[in-house]
Amino acid sequence: MKSDIEIAQEAKMIHIRDVAKQLGISEDDLEMYGKYKTKLTDELWEEVKDREDGKLILVTAINPTPAGEGKTTTSVGLGEAFGRMGKKAAIALREPSLGPCFGIKGGAAGGGYAQVVPMEELNLHFTGDFHAITSANNLLAAMLDNHIKQGNALQIDTNQIVWKRCMDMNDRVLRNIVVGLGRPVDGVVREDHFIISVASEIMAILCLAENIKDLKERLSKIIVAYNYEGMPVTAGQLNAVGAMAALLKDALKPNMVQTLENTPAFVHGGPFANIAHGCNSVRATKTALKLADYVVTEAGFGADLGAEKFFDIKCRMADLKPDAVVLVATVRALKYNGGVAKDDLGTENLDALKKGIANLEKHIENVAKFNVPCVVTLNRFVTDTDAELSFVKEFCEEHGCEFALSEVWEKGGEGGIELANKVLKTIEEKESHFAPLYDVNLSICEKIETIAREIYGAAKVNYAPAARQAIDRLEKLGYGNTPICMAKNQYSLSDDPKKLGRPEHFEITIREVYVNAGAGFVVAITGTVMTMPGLPLHPAAERIDVTDDGVIVGLS
Ligand code: ADP
Ligand code: MG
Repeated sequence: MKSDIEIAQEAKMIHIRDVAKQLGISEDDLEMYGKYKTKLTDELWEEVKDREDGKLILVTAINPTPAGEGKTTTSVGLGEAFGRMGKKAAIALREPSLGPCFGIKGGAAGGGYAQVVPMEELNLHFTGDFHAITSANNLLAAMLDNHIKQGNALQIDTNQIVWKRCMDMNDRVLRNIVVGLGRPVDGVVREDHFIISVASEIMAILCLAENIKDLKERLSKIIVAYNYEGMPVTAGQLNAVGAMAALLKDALKPNMVQTLENTPAFVHGGPFANIAHGCNSVRATKTALKLADYVVTEAGFGADLGAEKFFDIKCRMADLKPDAVVLVATVRALKYNGGVAKDDLGTENLDALKKGIANLEKHIENVAKFNVPCVVTLNRFVTDTDAELSFVKEFCEEHGCEFALSEVWEKGGEGGIELANKVLKTIEEKESHFAPLYDVNLSICEKIETIAREIYGAAKVNYAPAARQAIDRLEKLGYGNTPICMAKNQYSLSDDPKKLGRPEHFEITIREVYVNAGAGFVVAITGTVMTMPGLPLHPAAERIDVTDDGVIVGLS
């Protein structure tokens, strides 16, 4: 079997102008980066923004194994299947981060015969959006420290600085650092921190902003620190907004590439779903909805993280109305949730499958809470046995849930026709009555507890003293009525990555709470989840290389 990158390098890509043409986009509206990547102009958005929307299909999943379970692969294959059926379809995905690319997971452009290309460029620098986001984030940090050094007119309390530097890399040693060491001219000494760029508020803002005006308004509201009186100090007060917006101007424009079967793919923005809101940009999703009849979009990790935030943050803020959910499961991840070790997932194990399927059951129940019809799809691996496949199919049928086997990894769009037909049938027969899970006007604790109880299945929420204090302060300052962005490990429905399957009677702990006032949500950090990941013993980076002919290898 060929590797993902080998398949991607054999792709017969067509010129991006011909990909765009499929959606009726003229060359005038393309800002091309070579032959296979383009950004879409602001003029295009102005031209199409009042059109009717196509159907919006969210791809989400059960709790994953460390390698990912094929949401991107399924999204790509489903989009391609629609294409084969003569439908005007587009895919809307996130841009990969270098963190997982060089860490455990590898690339994030799909897999097998369901991939987005050019895969190496997509996974590495692409159109520079992450560079722009990182630069804007760090410009604000530099202006903040400079302001303090130059006399601190805003009376910033250096013990209450909340803005962190960022980098698109898994680099644990930067989690806690000291800056400003040296002579007085080298700045004021203080403890500082790095987060990964995909967890930066700038990333969230870029993904939620409707246009440049909205982008600037959001940037100006970013809270960088508190002053000696405990009042927020913002990016607006540091006069940083114009320069940050200038860095982000082009990054705000959606990117378009193609799948292996030349289906248009909008790939834009990339917040992680465990430590950020986990969805691609509103701008890309909306543009896709104006141009295509069917838009397939992916939210990160399991439905407890990505889908919950897609519904409660993205759809709520952007007024999107999803029509259907595709819930991806794999026999491997179900067995993993049934307690099988990562290296033994290729062996038939019906007992573990029966145990682990409780995880799927919980996610089916959770999706129903948002009143959007759901199709379960099993992303088939070659190691899956017939007995295992039939077991999952029967489970879904017994639970009154639509089911389709997906073979897109092996067969591309052809392997997704059964799924595409099920999705079309579901959209036709079952109306979506989408509603978010909670009312934003509830208290911060009530919102956190609603998510923990309803989605995770927790019995109780505990708060660290610092989290309690932060919640009180945010409510007093008027930041209480925003959605909540939960930060939680992706492997478990609980805040303990070891509690697999469908844990019950557990308590979760809120360690830290802060507001992303520009993005418009309050972040609640649970358990031990980190906003700057680390690398494993043998990172994927050890296997990546470039041949003497300039061909990248080992990027899975
Ligand atoms: P997710 O989006 O859920 O994180 P991806 O679609 O990125 O998952 O897939 C993760 C990895 O698993 C990729 O390397 C992909 O090639 C591989 N993969 C996905 N589906 C299959 C499959 N059916 N058989 C074998 N490998 C697969
Ligand atoms: Mg993915």
